[in-house]
Amino acid sequence: MAENVHKSFGRLEVLKGIDLQVKRGEVMCVVGPSGSGKSTFLRCVNHLEKLTAGRLWVNGELMGYRQKRGRLYELRDTEIAAQRSDIGMVFQRFNLFPHLTVLGNIIEAPVQVKKVPRAEATERARELLERVGLPDKADAYPEQLSGGQQQRVAIARALAMEPSLMLFDEPTSALDPELVGEVLDVMRDLARGGMTMVVVTHEMGFAREVGDSLVFMDDGVVVESGTPADVLTNPQHERTQAFLSKVL
Ligand code: ATP
Ligand code: MG
Repeated sequence: MAENVHKSFGRLEVLKGIDLQVKRGEVMCVVGPSGSGKSTFLRCVNHLEKLTAGRLWVNGELMGYRQKRGRLYELRDTEIAAQRSDIGMVFQRFNLFPHLTVLGNIIEAPVQVKKVPRAEATERARELLERVGLPDKADAYPEQLSGGQQQRVAIARALAMEPSLMLFDEPTSALDPELVGEVLDVMRDLARGGMTMVVVTHEMGFAREVGDSLVFMDDGVVVESGTPADVLTNPQHERTQAFLSKVL
């Protein structure tokens, strides 16, 4: 999926050659210190950031480019948007549209981008709200919900586009501790349902239980990766050991 991904901002090299593979239906958890490039990597995956070098494939599709006779041609913005609509993203801060109801938030992209008929999108949105445990909140506005509820709506909204890959960037780190569990429960269900997921998180319990692989990033490189059990109980690299001793 990721091959030798580099990303620089001016002279600052943030990603220094990332190679990672997520198999279909698997959950990859990514951990690492602040500033190590985790968010930048996720943003590269859905082409919110353009790579400085390297390549990324999602679902067998090269992101951002078309390959023709061995040469790469940049895709147009509309083509990139189409690729991106296949990837759901949930951020640390619930970025719901404040002026739309929960239902309005969920149907917005399917109706506007995918041209799904409103009635069909609404029916599907109600199913998704059921799935994230909020069947009675369809008509509420984001500000009327707790952080955990907002984050579950954000997940439902991403799922409404029927993505083949879900990216999570520290989805629970802005939540009060008692609300973390309800969001992780939804993510666990999603994983059990076979969704392919990349999850940046500091929730080591979740990583251990739900992750198929665990990646430790530091300073723009993958320092170590493996099964969560291996990485957590038997970290090989000194930097991994030092990081884990702080967060576990
Ligand atoms: P955190 O755990 O704090 O979220 P992170 O691992 O997600 O950290 P990134 O947000 O990817 O780290 O940032 C990695 C580095 O890239 C940082 O030094 C950051 O300042 C820099 N950076 C990120 N985005 C930009 C940008 N748009 N322009 C310039 N520098 C950037
Ligand atoms: Mg980040």
